[in-house]
Amino acid sequence: MEKYEYLGLVGEGSYGIVIRSRNKENGRIVAIKKFLEDDDDKMVKKIAMREIRLLKQLRHENLVNLLEVWNRRKRWYLVFEFVDHTLLDDLEQCPNGLEYDKVRRYLIQILRGIAFCHSHNIIHRDIKPENILVSRSGVVKLCDFGFARSLTAPGEMYTDYIATRWYRAPELLVGDTKYGKPVDVWAVGCLVMEMLTGEPLFPGDSEIDQLFHIIRCVGNLIPRHKELFHKNPLFTGLQLPDIKRIELLPTHYPHIPCLVFDLVKKCLQIDPEKRPSCAELLQHNYFTADGFSER
Ligand code: ADP
Ligand code: MG
Repeated sequence: MEKYEYLGLVGEGSYGIVIRSRNKENGRIVAIKKFLEDDDDKMVKKIAMREIRLLKQLRHENLVNLLEVWNRRKRWYLVFEFVDHTLLDDLEQCPNGLEYDKVRRYLIQILRGIAFCHSHNIIHRDIKPENILVSRSGVVKLCDFGFARSLTAPGEMYTDYIATRWYRAPELLVGDTKYGKPVDVWAVGCLVMEMLTGEPLFPGDSEIDQLFHIIRCVGNLIPRHKELFHKNPLFTGLQLPDIKRIELLPTHYPHIPCLVFDLVKKCLQIDPEKRPSCAELLQHNYFTADGFSER
């Protein structure tokens, strides 16, 4: 720990902080994620341990690289390669959306990173602009595996899920305990629209408002999710809108090219079973039509 020189604070989350530091021995710049004390909160240990375990398993060009881990005075420290900025920074710089080519370059890498996690049966569960790092040369690296988890046996409850609302799939919002990889695909759909327009697609200000945003845009929930909605104490006394005519995305965004729209619509299927896998999305014409994915 003494070998690191403090350079500045880069991020602050609910479970700790991220500090930019220099390794005095080799000059390497790193990001050190320092978790809160274990004692303060049982969740902290759980989240830190999960992130460590998963990241040790997952090595891929599009996932952030964990260099070392240590525990000192009841705190966990994770040392990562330092990555220049986040997708959120890019979006703040370009309030009307990113260049079309950049969106495609980012998206293919995001999908490769998630597809790799999924091939190891790990769902990220918190795909959003702050958790997508971008290097100076444009290499994308997913970070923040604190909420990621391995798929479990059917029926096991996922009780600790508190990831960001705007990117949350309908099955998560209604409280389905049998969700899986399609939750990450949903988040990708939301993310692509945000990269293209500069605006979050579904900026709900509560769980119910989030569902309203979604239903208005892509249509009514599937029967199983409607049932879960009515059983969920969180929504007691609330009604779902019954949408007869959905406001299909393209009418709102006439300037967005149809190939990428088609990909987004596939990600934003209300029925998780109908969403393609990330591996399938990587074969979409959006990437293959002009030989882009080979380049
Ligand atoms: P949290 O659980 O607090 O969200 P994250 O792992 O997402 O933790 O890190 C918080 C923030 O710190 C990120 O949004 C990003 O801005 C920054 N950050 C995290 N890892 C790195 C890294 N390896 N290089 C540069 N910045 C990073
Ligand atoms: Mg984060």
